[in-house]
Amino acid sequence: MSDLRDLYQEVIIDHGRRPRNFGPLPGHNHYAEGFNPLCGDRLTLYLKVADGVIEDVRFEGAGCAISTASASLMCEVLKGKSEAQAEALFAGFHALLTDADEQRAMASAEALGKLQVLAGVREFPARIKCATLPWHTLRAALHDQATPATTE
Ligand code: ZN
Repeated sequence: MSDLRDLYQEVIIDHGRRPRNFGPLPGHNHYAEGFNPLCGDRLTLYLKVADGVIEDVRFEGAGCAISTASASLMCEVLKGKSEAQAEALFAGFHALLTDADEQRAMASAEALGKLQVLAGVREFPARIKCATLPWHTLRAALHDQATPATTE
């Protein structure tokens, strides 16, 4: 398990340092801002949605390694997904990090693909909001919420 954990950590550090899909998205038709006051993470998420499908998604902002890696991984996973699939991923990801029943949490991991690398965050309750901030912001963007999404 420790080898796997090291691998997970490498992926998170890599995405934290060199986030994918970082920058503005010309032609986006949804966006939202997100803020995690506990850590100070801020991000702006841009979406291009057509016929209920997320065709492209990018983000900008400044946050800790966990929030940046989570946003980077989220963008990779979301491309080509329907809004309903995105909601299902959020629910599964939230369960993975917060479900008190570890077996049930891990059971929801299987459908999450590369998002699973963030499973270790559940052992650090203070950082869970860093990991979920991009997803709260996604929901705000899909609903065209004018006020910034916050983890509080
Ligand atoms: Zn953070």
